[in-house]
Amino acid sequence: MGFNMKTKILLIYTGGTIGMIKDLDTGGLRAFDFNNLLLRVPELKLLDCNINTISFKNPIDSSNMNQNYWVDIAQIIETNYKIYDGFVILHGSDTMSYTASALSFMLENLNKPVIFTGSQLPVGDLRTDAKENLITSIQIASLKRKGEPVIKEVALYFEYKLYRANRTTKINAEHFEAFASLNYPTLVESGVHLKVNDQHLLKPKTNLPLKVHTSLNANVIIIKLFPGICESVINAMLNIPNLQGVVLETFGSGNTTTCQWFIDALTKTIQKGIPIINVTQCSGGYVIMGQYETSTKLKSIGLISGKNMTTEAAITKLMYLLNKNLSLNELKVHFETSLRGEI
Ligand code: ASP
Repeated sequence: MGFNMKTKILLIYTGGTIGMIKDLDTGGLRAFDFNNLLLRVPELKLLDCNINTISFKNPIDSSNMNQNYWVDIAQIIETNYKIYDGFVILHGSDTMSYTASALSFMLENLNKPVIFTGSQLPVGDLRTDAKENLITSIQIASLKRKGEPVIKEVALYFEYKLYRANRTTKINAEHFEAFASLNYPTLVESGVHLKVNDQHLLKPKTNLPLKVHTSLNANVIIIKLFPGICESVINAMLNIPNLQGVVLETFGSGNTTTCQWFIDALTKTIQKGIPIINVTQCSGGYVIMGQYETSTKLKSIGLISGKNMTTEAAITKLMYLLNKNLSLNELKVHFETSLRGEI
């Protein structure tokens, strides 16, 4: 009799191209039964770990993702947390950065790898990127040192690179290299060997039990500014009934028009207790309110700095923090503090 000490990985299939087939009638891609995915990747049997799978009952294109599905994923992880050494989540690439960012906030005191991956081509396609993404994600989730998992955070693996999930953005709808993390270095690079960049990994100093947060507030909006955006549009958006938080995508290092009607509209919103987060439209870089005259007022009326957070991280962090019964000031302090390595 012997003990099976193989690493145990739970594969969670939510949908996305990786498990899609071409509908012969319409020519469009649609999700198919997850069991077929395993049939199509027999290489999984060669990996030195035990893999179990759970699939969404009705796998979805990730454009249909929402916070209820995020809760489903978080609860699957919570239920299975003690049993498995790591989790690999198969997800459509379109909104993967949002889901993965949300999960990074929802899973507090995470001490095991949660790796998101997907693909640009279905697994059955001759030139598919699905197999490499899937197999390497499982290998990375299985990495251990002195019995401890190497990755202890929510990460995203795509095209030979592992990134911190809440630093990623989908930047290309066609290239296999579909994601970028412009403000934070790669965690692992996959070549002939897996090169782990230890100095960049999140090192939770805690052995506290996993705490799963499932209350998210979706009464939020992202407003992307453009030169010429008019008063009626801004006012209509800021006066949406029951609006509770705003992510404002500004220019450059956090700049906006200095028109008085605009500053007044933001001021009134903040005075109603609605937080406004300033993130940049640029894919990389930092919001520094006060660096230019065009952002000095924003600071004094109380906009919250999104610093170098992605829009995906900012909106999901806002959804997470809004239901924590924080005052506007407390929310600002939490928002401007790095909770999961997102800043
Ligand atoms: N539309 C797909 C999705 O996000 C694209 C993909 O899987 O990469 O579900």
